[in-house]
Amino acid sequence: MTITARENWSRRRKFYAWGAEDEGATDEEARAIERVWGEALGADGFEVTPPPTLDEINLKPSRVDRVPTSLQPICHTDTYQRALHTYGKTFMECARCFARDFADAPDAVVYPRDEAEVAAVLDWCGGAELAAIPFGGGSSAVYGVNPVVGERFKGVVTIDMSHMNRVLETDITSRAARVQAGVFGPDLDAQLKPHGLSLRFFMQAYPYSSLGGWIATRAAGHYAMGTTHIDDFVESVHMVTPKGGWRSRRLPASGAGPSPDRFAIGSEGAMGIITEAWLRLPSRPAHRRGATFAFAAFDDGIEALREVAQAGLNPANCRLIDPREAGLTGSYDGTKAILVLGFESAHHPVDAWIDIAMQACRDHGGEAVEETLAASGDTSATAAARWRQAFLREPFYREVKTARGIGRDTCETAIPWSGFRDLHEAVKTRTSRAIREVTGRDGTVTCRITHVYPDGPAPYFTFHFLCDKTRMVEQATAIKTAAYDAMTETGGTITHHHAVGRLHMPWYLKQRPPLFGEVLRAAKETLDPRGMMNPGVIVES
Ligand SMILES: Cc1cc2nc3c(=O)[nH]c(=O)nc-3n(C[C@H](O)[C@H](O)[C@H](O)COP(=O)(O)OP(=O)(O)OC[C@H]3O[C@@H](n4cnc5c(N)ncnc54)[C@H](O)[C@@H]3O)c2cc1C
Repeated sequence: MTITARENWSRRRKFYAWGAEDEGATDEEARAIERVWGEALGADGFEVTPPPTLDEINLKPSRVDRVPTSLQPICHTDTYQRALHTYGKTFMECARCFARDFADAPDAVVYPRDEAEVAAVLDWCGGAELAAIPFGGGSSAVYGVNPVVGERFKGVVTIDMSHMNRVLETDITSRAARVQAGVFGPDLDAQLKPHGLSLRFFMQAYPYSSLGGWIATRAAGHYAMGTTHIDDFVESVHMVTPKGGWRSRRLPASGAGPSPDRFAIGSEGAMGIITEAWLRLPSRPAHRRGATFAFAAFDDGIEALREVAQAGLNPANCRLIDPREAGLTGSYDGTKAILVLGFESAHHPVDAWIDIAMQACRDHGGEAVEETLAASGDTSATAAARWRQAFLREPFYREVKTARGIGRDTCETAIPWSGFRDLHEAVKTRTSRAIREVTGRDGTVTCRITHVYPDGPAPYFTFHFLCDKTRMVEQATAIKTAAYDAMTETGGTITHHHAVGRLHMPWYLKQRPPLFGEVLRAAKETLDPRGMMNPGVIVES
């Protein structure tokens, strides 16, 4: 049976891993993971921990009683709902799920159906001294939805926005739509399609993350350059705070002081709940061309990338993948870095642009390994297609790896070109050393450049290591800390697009100008005087 995008959001999700209960890695994929990572990490075999089942989980009794009568139909305290909303989607959280550790589960989960119910839930939380955690798809990579709020609250309520999932209005002339914040990616595009519209924001977590989550975390989409951050798509925002609601005026641009939208974008649920937004919608591309180049040296690929980024060509795709990552994902042979280029336009052929970019690649020693005209038939065997397939399937592999004690984690940043080499070297060296110290054996640390700007790249590091299954969280945290220290001490941001959450707070506090911190605290005091909105995120609690 084919599941439509409209039905997808309501499929019963796994409470301990990525995706719906009836989807996941195939047996063949699991065998490939064992083979590839057994070889890469030097493991003879893997003992497989079965995934947790609901009857193995002991939750503390819910502290929430006296739910207002009007909210009772949308309020849940059963084990499945509380377990489903205990974690986001980092490796450490998956490891805690496999350890059957749900000690921090929220006391209740509510599913508001409209803004009046959102406001009523916030009133209830305020009056009953409960912390409120906004929740979209729960794909947070930074402990953004964890109900860990300290002792000053009498309980925690998670507010799941996924029942507010409609496109409410379109403005075809302006190519814009008013959309409720809880909608997931595929459902949003399915609702826009009959109007001839699409958001074209295909980030990796697209199937199971929400518009409100993207806005709240300043997510970045699949384009390597240009309009890729959700910031660029937002025309106006409606946010409901404990103090009341705000709706900004719909405008293509405005010079009227600091932007209320820019304040809501990236607020990570700490100021209020984004309930809807007007979105600018790009035209569908009609012209596409892509090419892949192999570089013997990653550094040469970097130089090619910089030239393309600074040439004003605006490629849709411009991803450089280091040799090891290209090999481990099966995209290329493991000896060379690959640079995947893609150009697209709704209006005009893109040959002139890609020809310039391809010449830049050749000038820096790149060897064209394949060129694809999307219109010309089967492109599934290309390096670019193999890379894309590995990228789309990876979220499903997390549970397979965790069950086998294979740690996999990532960190992502951005840095001016002039600082890239030092950052790259420091992250690779210090993370590799931490893996050795913490696990007693070598792991892998690989890098790809996901986004580029004229003044710098956004590098994304992935590390794999063999865990002691009794210490997975502790080991992963130590390794990640080494990577974060290296990244930020060499001048990078703590995050390019994964947001701050609870995980990145210590580094964010060092990065943020202190006076700006005071401004944020004052804003939170105004909008959320009880400090109940996602405590500990963005603003210290
Ligand atoms: C496999 C995987 C791939 C990923 N790929 C990408 C990627 O390509 N690009 C990228 O940018 N990120 C990526 N991420 C990170 C994550 O998907 C993003 O941060 C995403 O924007 C979170 O959306 P969500 O709906 O799942 O939000 P959640 O995880 O539910 O919440 C994230 C934060 O936003 C807040 N929040 C959620 N909804 C609202 C709302 N309506 N109002 C106010 N606050 C709200 C929450 O309180 C929390 O602080 C990935 C994560 C995973 C696990």
